[in-house]
Amino acid sequence: MFEVVIIGAGMAGATLAERFASSGKKVLLIERRRHVEGNCYDEVDANGILIHKYGPHLFHTDDAQVWEYLSRFTPWHLYFHRVKAVIDGKPVPIPFNLNTLREVFPQSTADKLEAALLRTFDYGKKIPILELKKSADADLQFLADFVYEKIFLHYSEKQWGLSPEKISGAVTARVPVFVGRDDRYFNDRFQAMPKFGYTRLVENMLAHKNIKLMLNTDFHEVTALRGEEIFLFGQRFDGQLIYTGQLDELFDKRFGELPYRSIDMQFDSVDAEKFQSAPVVNYPNNYDFTRITEFKQIHPAQSPRTTILREYPQAYVAGVNEPYYPLFTDEARAAYEKYSAELARFKNVTAVGRLAEYRYYDIDDAVKRALDVFDALN
Ligand code: UDP
Repeated sequence: MFEVVIIGAGMAGATLAERFASSGKKVLLIERRRHVEGNCYDEVDANGILIHKYGPHLFHTDDAQVWEYLSRFTPWHLYFHRVKAVIDGKPVPIPFNLNTLREVFPQSTADKLEAALLRTFDYGKKIPILELKKSADADLQFLADFVYEKIFLHYSEKQWGLSPEKISGAVTARVPVFVGRDDRYFNDRFQAMPKFGYTRLVENMLAHKNIKLMLNTDFHEVTALRGEEIFLFGQRFDGQLIYTGQLDELFDKRFGELPYRSIDMQFDSVDAEKFQSAPVVNYPNNYDFTRITEFKQIHPAQSPRTTILREYPQAYVAGVNEPYYPLFTDEARAAYEKYSAELARFKNVTAVGRLAEYRYYDIDDAVKRALDVFDALN
């Protein structure tokens, strides 16, 4: 019978399922949704365009092991992600960089600010906005205040529903000023999209005779934790249990609900070849949505129409919408620690992935963590 049970068929769960199956173990993979690949799930829509149902997911990594591992299951389409943010009505490249300076300021101001950046920091460095704000240099202080106000503050308040001082360093570190002219959103060595999408990638990972996949199945229907033991179909289970869902659900929310942030994803079909000047355009200061993604610019498609997605952040409510981001406040982390201590009582249960570990994992982080967990359990 099964030697490993994995709850959740997203990127982390699928990686562990594939690794255990390939090492000869019989794996049961349980997924509540009717499809695999968690929030990276993608599908071709009525316009013939590959869309990401749960918001844009761009693959990038510096980790050769992760790149080589995933490359076994998909060919890639080379893709460098670019993002613009609308500042005072004009879309300009972000991360805010030396080109952006010239788009938003008159030449003399841009020259002065560029000189201040270059005499203070090494070329090619990314400086998190809050670090730049601490600068003693008056020009850098001016620039930091500008970027903070025009790019960070209102976007982040919308996105997280929190005042800025409650927003974690894990988030603010993602808003840098870049001392360079590279307009790409990421600087990683490997940047590409799975040629046929993430869903196909994961289907390829799971196409193994040792993997039994149960979709449309809540883990409560199949597994239970009682005392310090695991039960599977009502019988004691001595194998490994990997859990990739929300940790509060594993313990029936006994210490209260862990807060996550959700998004109302509003897709729209536009009767035009092209909608906007970059794959993603952020609207920090206008509108209730945070950004618009145009999927045709991520996965090229021949279509007279184009599909766009507007993201409206909202609170996560269990059973009503989807959990996308752990909310990284001190209170939320303290609550998570209680669940984590509870989990530690079970020697054969491991939490893996963005939801279960309550971390801002990117796709490559989730795969890397899954590969490391597999090594540790073998
Ligand atoms: N952010 C911001 N302004 C922007 C883009 C991002 O303030 O124009 C902040 C915001 O708090 C956001 C975080 O940076 O939640 C990460 O944004 P990113 O789009 O890089 O990540 P994703 O939401 O795609 O995980």
